[in-house]
Amino acid sequence: MFRETCNNQECMKEFNVTMMGVDVPGGKDKEPVICPYCNTIVRTEMISQTFSTSKLEDLKK
Ligand SMILES: [Zn+2]
Repeated sequence: MFRETCNNQECMKEFNVTMMGVDVPGGKDKEPVICPYCNTIVRTEMISQTFSTSKLEDLKK
């Protein structure tokens, strides 16, 4: 798990990113990192899994 900061100027919030799914060899695809606050695609990365994002306050529950 790692943290990303939203690049939407009206949001700029920090959120958690987790890699989900099975790591398929050669199954790389462009996966988006989507801000859970404003649904902006912060960036995309070529990975064989998918990104799951969550708000920081959701982890404290
Ligand atoms: Zn955002």
